Amino acid sequence: MLNTTQPKEVFLADYQAPDYLVDQAALTFELASDMTRVRSVLSMRKNPQGQLNDCVLDGEQLKLISIKIDGRELQGNEYQCTDSALLISSPPDKFELEIETEIFPEKNTALEGLYHSGRLLCTQCEAEGFRRITYYPDRPDVMAVFTVSIVADKVLWPIMLSNGNLDGQGQFDDGRHWVRWHDPHPKPSYLFALVAGDLYCQQDSFVTASGRQVQLEIFVDPENSHKCDHALSSLKQAMKWDEEKYGREYDLDVFMIVAVNDFNMGAMENKGLNIFNSACVLASPETATDNDYYMIQSVVGHEYFHNWSGNRVTCRDWFQLSLKEGFTVLRDQQFSADMNSAAVKRIDDVNQLRNLQFAEDAGPMAHPIRPASFIEIGNFYTVTIYEKGAEVVGMIKTILGEQGFRKGTDLYFERHDGQAVTTDDFIKAMEDANDIDFSQFKRWYTQAGTPELTVTTHYDSSANRYHLRIEQSCPATPGQKEKQPLYIPVAMGLLNKQGDAMAMQLEGEENAYPDETRVLIVSEQQQEFTFINVATEPVLSLLRNFSAPVNLSMARTNSELAFLMANDNDSFNRWDASQRLVINVLMQLVESVRAATVLTVPDEIIKQFSLVLAKAEEAPDLVTKMLTLPSENYLAAQAKPADVDAIHSARNHLKRSLAQALKQQFTTLYDKLNSTGNYRFNADDMAKRSLKNCCLDYLLTTQDPMQVQRCLKQMKQADNMTDTLAGLSILVEYEGPETEHAVRAFYEQWQHDRQVVDKWLAVQAKSSLPNTLVRVKGLMKHPAFSITNPNNVRALLGQFCRNNPVNFHALDGSGYQFLVEQILQLDKLNPQIAARLLGALNSWRQYDEQRQQMIKQALQKIAEQPELSSDVYEVVTKYLAV
Ligand SMILES: [Zn+2]
Repeated sequence: MLNTTQPKEVFLADYQAPDYLVDQAALTFELASDMTRVRSVLSMRKNPQGQLNDCVLDGEQLKLISIKIDGRELQGNEYQCTDSALLISSPPDKFELEIETEIFPEKNTALEGLYHSGRLLCTQCEAEGFRRITYYPDRPDVMAVFTVSIVADKVLWPIMLSNGNLDGQGQFDDGRHWVRWHDPHPKPSYLFALVAGDLYCQQDSFVTASGRQVQLEIFVDPENSHKCDHALSSLKQAMKWDEEKYGREYDLDVFMIVAVNDFNMGAMENKGLNIFNSACVLASPETATDNDYYMIQSVVGHEYFHNWSGNRVTCRDWFQLSLKEGFTVLRDQQFSADMNSAAVKRIDDVNQLRNLQFAEDAGPMAHPIRPASFIEIGNFYTVTIYEKGAEVVGMIKTILGEQGFRKGTDLYFERHDGQAVTTDDFIKAMEDANDIDFSQFKRWYTQAGTPELTVTTHYDSSANRYHLRIEQSCPATPGQKEKQPLYIPVAMGLLNKQGDAMAMQLEGEENAYPDETRVLIVSEQQQEFTFINVATEPVLSLLRNFSAPVNLSMARTNSELAFLMANDNDSFNRWDASQRLVINVLMQLVESVRAATVLTVPDEIIKQFSLVLAKAEEAPDLVTKMLTLPSENYLAAQAKPADVDAIHSARNHLKRSLAQALKQQFTTLYDKLNSTGNYRFNADDMAKRSLKNCCLDYLLTTQDPMQVQRCLKQMKQADNMTDTLAGLSILVEYEGPETEHAVRAFYEQWQHDRQVVDKWLAVQAKSSLPNTLVRVKGLMKHPAFSITNPNNVRALLGQFCRNNPVNFHALDGSGYQFLVEQILQLDKLNPQIAARLLGALNSWRQYDEQRQQMIKQALQKIAEQPELSSDVYEVVTKYLAV
């Protein structure tokens, strides 16, 4: 049995222009803890492109107090009110609509609309949260100029913020005060924001290229006043970068960021008033790791860049989500690459894509970057929309080149400023600015699944010719059996046996290509490229810098991979060769574990790792990536059926063997790197710390008590969270009283700091030691954990279910049972977070029969619950359908 009223699927093909538009929206909020009164005055008019004469406004969980048209109060028979809408029959072509509602922020645990986070009141409206604030045409293609007044008790709510520029403020005699904000830029309701509370404000300023003075303000809880510097400097970097790289300037007098503890997402780009999950904005060396610093810089950049790619030019409907997200992720990736190491940034992005997006593309929720339908848009804030979306825009950039791409984005911004548009409009601007035809390329927007390139080569020494044959295919995905050939840019180079770049001249070309890397376009199902004047047999370096989001199927020997690992002049491909070599070895070991035969680690890989370690100091960041073995989840996706236990044993065995064989090198390197001075966040220091901690991680796999002491010593002496946390995460893989003591001591030291406590929860949840589930259940009762806080849920439950395969997929089914219990509890509180946690079962079809049976029962148990949210309903039905 499923719910009686099944949530409805909506289709892109059914899109219709709005029937009524809003030109001006004047909102007045009278804030109070339990109940807030909202008065909205909307200047509305009939849309010439609309179809219906009735005006339908969205609204959920609102108490309607009164409704007036042009000052006249409507009688009960002049409108209809349902659970989700307010319908006014045939209003005038142009009218002023005044509505008063009451809302109840304290009861709002879904964290959409207006809600409490501690003593703070704040909003989250994307995608459809504004309808929980007032009745409104809550869709992105209705754009209005907003004026927002807020009235509240001055002691309780000294700071009151909304979008745009401050337009007035004052006091009443009764102890209340008021502010008025005006945003001159028309915007959709999803970009509306309001914040009120007692907040500390750190200020700075920025002068734009055209001389406009912009006030920058970060608002945080007073106890976090020392954690704003990094976000502020990242913001200034981002503002400058967007001017230089994209010619985009900021357009208001003030730019504000608020840190909020209870937040479903990472951050939100509300016009002029970004709201951030506190984990994505607060940083100090003692409490934040290098990864936090790196992530904060990128998220601050991302949300800021939305001011143009998202706010000034927005989406027509939610099927176009990738229009703003794919493009903006590409922009933040470029920004991080420019601020840090470009090679490492690319490796991080591809790792994420392969680990998460490829899995999504291969699973029951597979969808194109512009989906054709959905039940709950909240389920489509996915790695496909974001990360694959960025890859697709990145391919456009690769095809057009830096300058052509900039011409395209300039035209896009100029043509569509102030509009709500589609991905087709984006492509059209690229085509028009560059006089190119992207009709075939557009299939990337409509076809799901990860394409596969099957590559064969042949060298003809008598004719000095080298033949490269590439065949493309794409696996079937739900609702899409047959796929058409895609337009794929494949960057490549040729190396001779000494590792030098060889000239590349295709048959029919007069001269050799001038650069070491060239981009081939694969647009047919099968294509052959013939290189001429190739004097000796080359080694092929293909898909350089990961020029397309595809899987490469190509027979490579271990020695060929070792050669590329040492010689490729594309850093990404050097790393990729190391990963492929490791995967070859690991897959062999997995087979041996399954067959219960002796595990042997080939000398070749030990030799390669030794060579890498010998040169580690030349490129410590790249070397760390090369030494880091692929995750168990990624390995599981490569082997069918995925044997969780065999993968875990094989990976541990390889790590331990490498550590034992190369102990001296790891130790020397560790000692050498373990003497950096005061903490600074920069690419160099960050690279050294990560290499040092990578060495420590290897050393501890030997389970040698001396290494445990080394780890404890590092934790004790560290002046920064990167080294402290690295020590703890390594130690939780070691069973002993030292570990228990370190875990307790860490909490005692950091219990006052939410961000650090979340790390403490996450580290324990990821431990592969047996009994971790018991520990996780215990931590759920710990004062540090609250099920209503999304960061706590992500840290403890999310990490256990997603990143602890050996425990989560335990053969007794305890992990699955635990997940069901949590989903059912969470769905009543926060459906978005519940649906996301269920994502831990995305790849359930890759496991053995026994596990699949248990997971199926778990999914059925969820599906049988009455009154599931549409979020969980959609995910569970799609999972069960495959
Ligand atoms: Zn975004």
